[in-house]
Amino acid sequence: MLPSRSDSQQRSLENPDKQTMRVDSTKRNEKLIEVPRKKLNMRLYSESEQKFQDYVNSKIVTISIIALVGAYAILIFVIVALEELLDEAEFNKISSILSWIELGILIIFILEIFVGLYAWGIKKYYKDKWLILDTLIILLSLFFVIFELADQKTSNVIKVIQAVFRFLRIFLLIRKAQTFRRLATISTISTPAEKIVRFLAELKEVLEDENMKLDIDYCIDKIGNNQLYQMGKLDEDNAEAMAWLNQSQQGRTEIKRIVTNEQQQQQLQQKKVMANFQKLNIPKRLLDILFKQHDDLYIDPFECDKLSGGEGLVNLMLFFFENYNLFDVFLIKPKVVRGYFEEVMKGYHDNPYHNKVHAQDVAQTCNFLISKCKFIEIGQLDEQDIACVLIAGAIHDYGHPGLTNAFLINSRNELALTYNDQSVLEMFHPSQCFKIAWGNQKVNIFENLQFQKYRRIRESIILMVLSTDMAHHASELAITNSRIAAPDFEPNGKDKQRLMDLIVHSSDVSNPTKSFEIYKQWTEKVLTEFWLQGDKERELGLPISYLCNRYTTNTAEAQVGFIDYVVKPTFACILGFLPAYEPFFQNLDKNKAKWQELIEYYKQQLASIQPK
Ligand SMILES: [Zn+2]
Repeated sequence: MLPSRSDSQQRSLENPDKQTMRVDSTKRNEKLIEVPRKKLNMRLYSESEQKFQDYVNSKIVTISIIALVGAYAILIFVIVALEELLDEAEFNKISSILSWIELGILIIFILEIFVGLYAWGIKKYYKDKWLILDTLIILLSLFFVIFELADQKTSNVIKVIQAVFRFLRIFLLIRKAQTFRRLATISTISTPAEKIVRFLAELKEVLEDENMKLDIDYCIDKIGNNQLYQMGKLDEDNAEAMAWLNQSQQGRTEIKRIVTNEQQQQQLQQKKVMANFQKLNIPKRLLDILFKQHDDLYIDPFECDKLSGGEGLVNLMLFFFENYNLFDVFLIKPKVVRGYFEEVMKGYHDNPYHNKVHAQDVAQTCNFLISKCKFIEIGQLDEQDIACVLIAGAIHDYGHPGLTNAFLINSRNELALTYNDQSVLEMFHPSQCFKIAWGNQKVNIFENLQFQKYRRIRESIILMVLSTDMAHHASELAITNSRIAAPDFEPNGKDKQRLMDLIVHSSDVSNPTKSFEIYKQWTEKVLTEFWLQGDKERELGLPISYLCNRYTTNTAEAQVGFIDYVVKPTFACILGFLPAYEPFFQNLDKNKAKWQELIEYYKQQLASIQPK
């Protein structure tokens, strides 16, 4: 169904007035549904016909025919060359031998045609119109060879025709070689994908409906180009990509239907009662900013941290707890929440990048996605879900040593040993944060939760933090894309957790989606951290990790790649189920263009520094 749906949308994009086109495509869908009943109008082959097909496609026959084609080519060149080199009398002496050989080869070609006709039937065999020409040339060549053998005295006219046919025979050889190269490719099929492509190609051959053939072409193209889970670029000219994105639109209309549950929205109505917030002791200037910008993509995280005396993370989480009524959900007093996040904040090391401000920034970006981009409505998040997303954002890099998993594994670090090299840091962060709570009753935000509720919250938070491991980025994104495109996609049901995971993971890589000024600061910080790791790796004689070599990493080039290969596909996926994200998506291209302008500058910078 996928290709026809996207195809029809592609057409309606090209010309929205063409209602008839859409009607056609609906008909096509009906036809597709009817297919099994009609058995695709396929001709069913008898056992002996199938045996012949297998025989013709067998390696031995394929190789023999190719060898024969080669021999025939040599023969024709020999005939043409001898005719030129020898005088007529000498040539006539040997020409009959050559003609007999030619006759033999042509008879084999004729036999091959007969076998093909028997195995596939005239209709399918001559589906390739070139084969009709091939047959004609072979038959006429045969006629001329017999004519030559019967009567040596040929007229000038016949000689000219013969010359033309020699030329055509060479053409025929090239055609034959191509046919057999194709056959040879088919006979070496090894992967399931190739077998599917072959099956689809054969199916296409026997179908009569032109639209269905187009659908099959689409399938072959996507399978053959390994694009089954690829999100297209947001390029107006790229109709296919638009069609794919509109595929998600299909889900979106359904989402809108599910969403407008007024009652629930009212329940989640943000309690913006200033007095309640003031009790939380959030510094006044920060509170003013959070009131206006708590769900804003362009909030300045560095400013927020500064305005709260370096306690931005704690104050932001207190604001969220009040805003979403989470004190009541956790049956907990604000001072316990403050105490808990103070402990979490203390656990963040003073790394250039993976520090408490990054945690605060990720939690706030999560809030932007669930609130401004309306995942609360689309996923029908309850207070518990909201709490999980925001807490996961806040704790997701707790205790980060400023070194990557690869470094920890390569240097046989204790953490790698503890977590068996599997998502080492992503296992470590939540593990420590649950220990903080259960190790100190005064800060245990989970203490009053009913056990089942606690289990659900714990599981959800752990899953979200695990999703920030870049090692699983590509495969998880592919699965999420396919879920969004699936007819049974349920953003508020069975797919909710997966989407919550993506919310946290995408917030973690969201710097390129922000204003360039903020983004550039984060870039400098992350590379400073990576380069410190690179220096360590150099010292220890370990392989220097990707982006970690300060002497070779071009900051601007690295960011262009990061946007193209990681961030853009991630947020294209977000766009697939959060249409409200659309106005922000273009930031990526704008920021990429800015980095592209800076590539040369960073090249010069690199040239000016040398390793010690
Ligand atoms: Zn992070």
